Amino acid sequence: MIFDVLTLFPGMFLGPFDESIINRAKDKRLIDISLHNIRDWAADRHQTADDAPYGGGAGMVMKAEPLAACICAVKAMRPNSTVILTSPQGRRLTHRVASELSEKEGLIIVCGRYEGIDERIRTLYGEDDISLGDFVLSGGEIAAMAIVDAVTRLIPGVLGSSESAETDSFCDGLLEYPHYTRPPEFGGLAVPETLLSGNHELIRKWRRKESLRKTRAVRPDLLNGIELTREDRRMLAEIELEDASAD
Ligand code: SAH
Repeated sequence: MIFDVLTLFPGMFLGPFDESIINRAKDKRLIDISLHNIRDWAADRHQTADDAPYGGGAGMVMKAEPLAACICAVKAMRPNSTVILTSPQGRRLTHRVASELSEKEGLIIVCGRYEGIDERIRTLYGEDDISLGDFVLSGGEIAAMAIVDAVTRLIPGVLGSSESAETDSFCDGLLEYPHYTRPPEFGGLAVPETLLSGNHELIRKWRRKESLRKTRAVRPDLLNGIELTREDRRMLAEIELEDASAD
């Protein structure tokens, strides 16, 4: 997967892509990340990349010409890549969206700044609009980092078998079960006994039930989106009884 990130602030990306899983994926040549400074494509002496909005009002708007020139130059190198705009008005980045994007050959991610980009860029070049959530960031750079990270984890071979994405939250539509590591007792709290039992079937059931409990408690909406097994339904009934008796 080839990521091309178009930004006015390439310096922001020093660091986040140079550690841990992303860095290893780059070393293994499973991904490649190129940064492109949009300002390099501004034609005037001052390399102007923004201008006042038509119609007046606060803030500045990212100019169409430098951005279009940058997108076209990158697209010429990577004709099969998909142009993604970052925007609070886009579709929400979820596990499903990340997994859909991980199937693409390459992503060209445009980071907006100020009030955003000239709308004609969206109309002419935008193939997808991605939002991190219902809040406004100062720029698309952090959104681009989140997209690169979430998509990279899902590319086959990136995660070692010990860090498999398959049990992660959202992968099977549920939140993941809680984790514990040594010591067996901490802050007066013991690790649930089942996890120390060495009985794989009991551990599997405990994890499934805790996964259901967590999802039911904090994201009940997710339960409507998946097909529950008979075992799941039984466990949910148990959880309901346990909660009722705890009240
Ligand atoms: N005026 C715009 C917000 C601009 S914020 C509006 O009200 O819709 C400036 C830039 O930050 C955007 O162009 C986008 O690239 C990025 N950005 C802000 N919030 C974001 C979010 N929730 N998800 C993804 N990108 C975001």
